[in-house]
Amino acid sequence: MARPVQYNIYGQTDVKLVKEGPEGYMGEGFFSTNLDKVVGLARKNSIWPLPFATSCCGIEFMATMASHYDLARFGSERVGFSPRQCDLLMVMGTIAKKMAPVVKQVYLQMAEPRWVLAMGACASSGGIFDTYSVLQGIDQIIPVDVYVPGCPPRPEAVIDGILKVQELIGNESLRRRNSDKYKQLMESYGIQ
Ligand code: SF4
Repeated sequence: MARPVQYNIYGQTDVKLVKEGPEGYMGEGFFSTNLDKVVGLARKNSIWPLPFATSCCGIEFMATMASHYDLARFGSERVGFSPRQCDLLMVMGTIAKKMAPVVKQVYLQMAEPRWVLAMGACASSGGIFDTYSVLQGIDQIIPVDVYVPGCPPRPEAVIDGILKVQELIGNESLRRRNSDKYKQLMESYGIQ
């Protein structure tokens, strides 16, 4: 005989599926809010990261994905290697100047809205490699939303970075990408 499936093992009746719902007005049988908040809520809890890992920080990301830290808890377990299907570019590791056009191309192939997280000292600032061949931070070629410090950052720091990205996504206006300020930002990187 099949065992009955028990979804709420603690027998609580006030368990909420969404920890923090959007702000809005609630009455008997209805809840109203604005579209920005609903879309933000959906987007922030379903980030598809593209890990662009070139060196040691990538190993720390693997630990973040594995069972102990389990990034899936934040809706980001679907790691993709096709830029067209991802919305968070995670650059982790030393980026040589020869590699810079490749990072930029990957960024350009991602559809809007897209976000960028620089993980570790190398991706954020070149790290200890203050040398002619290493890019001194990926923000020289693409805009970065969140920087995660460390060499390498621990998985807790990576998770903190993801939570910061979630915060940005959840509060972003749907019209931000059409704003003049955003267009100016893109133009400053030579992106149309
Ligand atoms: S920040 Fe440190 S751990 Fe990360 S890629 Fe650079 S040298 Fe390696």
